[in-house]
Amino acid sequence: MVKEMAGISSKEAMALEDRYGAHNYHPMPVVLARGEGVYVWDVEGRRYHDFLSAYSAVNQGHCHPRIIQAMIDQAQTLTLTSRAFHNDKLGLAEKFMCEFFGFDRALMMNSGAEAVETALKLARKWAYEVKGIPDGLAKIVVCADNFHGRTTTIISFSNDPDGHDHYGPYTPGFVMIPFGDLAALEHAFEDGNVAAFLFEPIQGEAGIVIPPDGFLAGVRSLCDKFNVLMIADEVQTGIARTGKRLAVDHEEVKPDLLVLGKALSGGTMPVSAVLASDEVMLTLHPGQHGSTYGGNPLACAVAIEALQVVQDEQLAANAEALGKVFRARMQAIDHPMVEFVRGKGLLNAVGIRPTAGYKAWDVCIRMMEGGVLAKPTHDHIIRFAPPLVINAEQLEACCDIIEAAILSFPKA
Ligand code: PLP
Repeated sequence: MVKEMAGISSKEAMALEDRYGAHNYHPMPVVLARGEGVYVWDVEGRRYHDFLSAYSAVNQGHCHPRIIQAMIDQAQTLTLTSRAFHNDKLGLAEKFMCEFFGFDRALMMNSGAEAVETALKLARKWAYEVKGIPDGLAKIVVCADNFHGRTTTIISFSNDPDGHDHYGPYTPGFVMIPFGDLAALEHAFEDGNVAAFLFEPIQGEAGIVIPPDGFLAGVRSLCDKFNVLMIADEVQTGIARTGKRLAVDHEEVKPDLLVLGKALSGGTMPVSAVLASDEVMLTLHPGQHGSTYGGNPLACAVAIEALQVVQDEQLAANAEALGKVFRARMQAIDHPMVEFVRGKGLLNAVGIRPTAGYKAWDVCIRMMEGGVLAKPTHDHIIRFAPPLVINAEQLEACCDIIEAAILSFPKA
């Protein structure tokens, strides 16, 4: 073991990151060393409730014993073959995911951004080879305030200055409409060169923004009408987070391409996937797309177990029930700081109106001191997304801590 790794303090760990790492994040000042279920512990042994779940990657709870066991078993057997050879787990994982989500085929990648890139490439391939759009002219419609990852193509169609600016020249071929606006979508689709509509069913990074009722069903029918692929990016909203298996299930619609990541591995390693029909997926031929680690046997074993846990432990139903409790508790807090409470299932946000000079960050610090970890998004919104294995008692205890943190600030 590296000498410094034994018994490092929070202060030392933060100083090392500050000195030797890139400054591309602004983390809460807590250094975590252990996790189990809804709990994490810092290096000094203080226990916290995790209310971020690594941006919804740890839906099944930290170090879920079944997922960790599947990982250990597979790690001791075979971890990586590359796709130069077949492995005995890939087909099983593909079949499992297709049956679980109701698609013909799956393509496994690693990060969420890679899966989004894969979906964009599939949409363009389909546009030229099936829909018949002239080569090089395909357009993909996206939403304002989207977040789909950090690659150069994905940030090309972001309107968040932090994520976008000074990374040009940008990838062309994207058209932006306001989120939730079906009239604008229909207008955009009138251009015959539109291949696909890429969207988040609930915008996560934008601050848990929920589209108007009927939006998902409206998207489905417009995509059908104009022969445009519906691409649902459920990297953050999928896998039980919003109280259903997928967020699109709230309106019982099926996208043409489903993009998954994060909780597909229960927070153990990067595993992502795109699911689609034969018509779309079979536009790809050998050598036209891939990834060294994509579909590795370790990821396959972990993904199967991670999804099985979601089903066996009925995490969607738990998220649905406890989400209602959470929102009711937050709405009942009597403080002018609470500007709004919104969300679905256990993907929720509380808007913080700056009061007496205090901001969302200050509230998060105070919650941290009380034992709940969450982080602001966009300065004035706090996202609350605990592991879906949280129980009613734990949730109520956390609501008490959050309420006490907010009430500790002066009201004017
Ligand atoms: N898509 C959505 C909706 C996301 O929320 C995220 C990450 O937060 C991504 C894609 C990118 O995933 P990753 O960070 O694994 O690349």
